[in-house]
Amino acid sequence: MNFTTLDRPPGSCDVLVVGSGAAGLTAACRAADAGHHVVVAERAGVLGGTTAVSGGVLWAPGNHLADADGAAEAVRHLVAVTRASVPRPRLAAFVGAIAAAVRYLCDQTRADLFVLDRPDYRAGLPGAAGRGRALDNRPFDVRAHPGLEPLLRPPTYLPWVTMAEREQDPGADLPAIDADRRRRGVRTMGGALAGSLAVSAHVRGVEFLLGARAVTLERAGPGWEVAFEGLGRLRAGAVVLAGGGFEGDPALQRAFLPAPLLPIGAPGNEGDGLFMALRAGAAVADMTASWGVPVFRDPSARYDGRPTGRLAGAELTRPGSIVVDARGRRFADEGHDYHELTKTLTGRAAWFVYDAAHRARFPVAGVPPGSTPSWAVTRPTLRALAEACGVDADALAETVAEFNADAGRGVDRRFGRAPSGLGPLTEGPFTALPVVPGTLGTSGGVVTDDEGRVLTRGGEPVEGLFAAGNVSASVFGDHYPGGGASLAAAVARAYAIGTALGGGGRR
Ligand SMILES: Cc1cc2nc3c(=O)[nH]c(=O)nc-3n(C[C@H](O)[C@H](O)[C@H](O)COP(=O)(O)OP(=O)(O)OC[C@H]3O[C@@H](n4cnc5c(N)ncnc54)[C@H](O)[C@@H]3O)c2cc1C
Repeated sequence: MNFTTLDRPPGSCDVLVVGSGAAGLTAACRAADAGHHVVVAERAGVLGGTTAVSGGVLWAPGNHLADADGAAEAVRHLVAVTRASVPRPRLAAFVGAIAAAVRYLCDQTRADLFVLDRPDYRAGLPGAAGRGRALDNRPFDVRAHPGLEPLLRPPTYLPWVTMAEREQDPGADLPAIDADRRRRGVRTMGGALAGSLAVSAHVRGVEFLLGARAVTLERAGPGWEVAFEGLGRLRAGAVVLAGGGFEGDPALQRAFLPAPLLPIGAPGNEGDGLFMALRAGAAVADMTASWGVPVFRDPSARYDGRPTGRLAGAELTRPGSIVVDARGRRFADEGHDYHELTKTLTGRAAWFVYDAAHRARFPVAGVPPGSTPSWAVTRPTLRALAEACGVDADALAETVAEFNADAGRGVDRRFGRAPSGLGPLTEGPFTALPVVPGTLGTSGGVVTDDEGRVLTRGGEPVEGLFAAGNVSASVFGDHYPGGGASLAAAVARAYAIGTALGGGGRR
């Protein structure tokens, strides 16, 4: 079945989905299953949003693919992670919805998930699991679906390997696997998730309208009339807002976030859905929250012309490296989960510093071992490096001496970094890369109930209006229970919207 798209909005549909990331595509499949005529409008010229450039991991406690670890334990863990700030029934609703959604994705869509052998990030908290909650995507052959390849957002910098290959298969020849998949058009990670969901929606008769930026939402009877920039209007019985967060809009960032965050997801998530929902009477919550990540800022990196960077993840946890601020001091356990680490970066000019032995052994920011990113600062001595970076040189020398001594003892007395991440910085030349607070997407937004109905400040549903994914306020507040929590929150709520939409529409 050739993957085709509409040229212009049809006059009407039962359900209009605004945005084609994981939230939008999941909601579209579910709405189509309920018998509705569904249109997905996507502002970009390609489908998939940030989802398609992501790691694609879902944090799905209680999923049927792992040995069932019990919903109760998962809820207990979530209560601990969210510091009891979220009502327990809401957390329980999430756990129920994500387990049902994973079952649905596996049994009824082309998504092909499997258990990734990853522990929860907050291993010390009650209810944490050593494995079973994180799910990876099997490779997805895009070319098996004619017409899809040019319509699916290409990856940015993540390799075309599965998370499992990357993290758990030391023998895998990742460059060879990557090259082979690129040649054959076989996507992995978020590209596999977005691609498989797009096909699942397409075979259900969902129609796609690309280059269609929804800008206004006006009441039309019990439904809505939606205007698209330069493309006319469409009447819809119900609208699902799934247009991502507002991280791409500097003015909204300034208005709500405690400090600027460098976005590394798909540009075009500029809060359009937020504005539409506000005009329709929606309440918003947690507007200061975001899925935080430390980001390597390559000054010349651009995504669709906008500044961007690369997630600074595993790099920060490896021996022979530290992160310091302009005072030349470490300020956190570099191996802390990235959401929490990002909060400590706020307001600092931070540098990731490593020595020649680290350079010889590890990849950094996409550059293989033995090489240095062209935009890095490298100097023969720590003092020269500090001076080049504007870092206090004496303090940096003290910091490195203390870290090296601790590495020798196998204990990071200052921040408790894991022993596996301890190793001295001894050999020049030394290298530094700027690290800034970044975001995978904002996570505050439109308030919904557990089935994604948009709510007013009085807690009443706005009839026929739903929201899921980063346009809506996350069920976790400003907390991050585990790798994949962001996509899981999106998919769980989108799945639940399908339940709410199940009763009506054309069959
Ligand atoms: C490098 C990277 C790795 C990541 N890895 C993971 C991971 O492994 N696990 C995880 O859980 N999360 C991960 N994330 C975060 C995750 O990808 C996002 O939080 C998630 O994809 C958000 O899904 P969404 O459906 O809300 O939005 P998106 O996937 O961003 O989709 C929103 C879509 O809406 C479109 N849109 C916006 N406005 C309009 C409009 N007015 N009209 C029509 N369309 C509009 C946008 O163009 C976009 O295509 C990662 C992010 C990045 C950048």
